[in-house]
Amino acid sequence: MNLDFSPDEKTFRQEVRDFLATELPVDIREKVRLGRRLSADDHVRWQNLLSERGWLGANWPKEHGGPGWGPVERHIFDEECAAAHAPTIVPFGVSMVAPVIMKFGNQDQQSHYLPRILANHDWWCQGYSEPGAGSDLASLRTRAVRDGDEYVVSGQKTWTTLGQHANMMFCLVRTDPEAKKQAGISFLLIDMQSPGLSVRPIITLDGAHEVNEVFLDEVRVPVANRVGEEGQGWTCAKFLLTHERTGIAGLGHAKQALRHLKSVATRVRHRGRPLLELPSFRHRVVKAELELMALEVTHLRVLAAARDGGAPGAESSLLKVRGSELRQELSELTRRALGPAALPFFPEFLYGDAQLDAEQAENAAAGVQYLNRRKLSIYGGSNEIQKSIVAKTLLGM
Ligand SMILES: Cc1cc2nc3c(=O)[nH]c(=O)nc-3n(C[C@H](O)[C@H](O)[C@H](O)COP(=O)(O)OP(=O)(O)OC[C@H]3O[C@@H](n4cnc5c(N)ncnc54)[C@H](O)[C@@H]3O)c2cc1C
Repeated sequence: MNLDFSPDEKTFRQEVRDFLATELPVDIREKVRLGRRLSADDHVRWQNLLSERGWLGANWPKEHGGPGWGPVERHIFDEECAAAHAPTIVPFGVSMVAPVIMKFGNQDQQSHYLPRILANHDWWCQGYSEPGAGSDLASLRTRAVRDGDEYVVSGQKTWTTLGQHANMMFCLVRTDPEAKKQAGISFLLIDMQSPGLSVRPIITLDGAHEVNEVFLDEVRVPVANRVGEEGQGWTCAKFLLTHERTGIAGLGHAKQALRHLKSVATRVRHRGRPLLELPSFRHRVVKAELELMALEVTHLRVLAAARDGGAPGAESSLLKVRGSELRQELSELTRRALGPAALPFFPEFLYGDAQLDAEQAENAAAGVQYLNRRKLSIYGGSNEIQKSIVAKTLLGM
């Protein structure tokens, strides 16, 4: 197994680096660097630039207009984007619903939705979870009753990330309440402007408006918006989840967080010396760095197997667990390094336009990022569930 990058891959890395250096708008880069909230317009501006370059659908095959990159190019792209403080691409359109439409959608759906996603015309959100249906997703209760050429949909979705900006939602609904749990589910594409649909914010621990509740009260959805056969939604849902977990390890983000931690722990003094030289603190940083190196090698092993024709399976659960734990540890260490300086909460700076002096600005996000990173071990399937998958599938327990 060869884990080195090939000369072509190294050239590709330079191409991505050059693009980011010239095209990523400075104001957006600064917001990401300082952990400030991006507006919908910031995301749209950046994704338009990627779309124009042909790189928005990084995971798309050439036949659908993607760059046709393999897993290694995608890894390099993600890593360089994180290092350059580029915004994370909002995944719900390009990385989640698009592969489902490519695999299960009919010709009309493919020719309508895929070009719009690639051109960044639509903002999608994910309507899977409900109160009482998270880990046990197949218990979902949102009903869709057939009425001629339409479904009438009623129920509630929750934790809908960035749903406040979305104009489209892919949604799991129960079309047959009599069938076995998984067999009665269908996959619908719902226009967020439909009468009867409303979005309410959920404000999270860090004071941010990132997730929402979505209420559906007799929302009429054309049958033409169903992807796959009626009752085939669970197959689409599972297929989509493999795409959701891919990349959740966030290796590029973890590397960036480690660089940031080291810079903070060098700047902060403890008894006149850089905190990074304090053995007890240094020990935790070194441990995190070693775990990051181990995670990277595992990640590259999975990628190397995929490059040679294999497909990441339960390994993506393993990467998700270790990657999310590591990113949580790095945010914890950064918060600890800053001590009381990480405590002040500046919502007007983080979520608005207010300015702070350079050092306050550098410190402002540490506390809220520590809180925000708690989500990593929950979404995309909680870590407990991923550990069960690893135990069953990889360890044969
Ligand atoms: C920030 C954030 C964004 C999200 N965005 C979206 C989104 O855009 N769209 C969407 O549809 N969903 C979204 N989710 C929902 C997410 O997928 C669920 O929160 C997740 O699947 C867990 O479900 P739950 O919250 O209902 O917890 P529960 O399933 O109730 O679990 C509660 C606890 O019990 C544990 N547990 C449950 N079952 C088992 C078991 N069998 N074995 C061991 N432990 C178990 C879990 O690990 C967890 O610790 C988001 C969640 C968060 C936090």
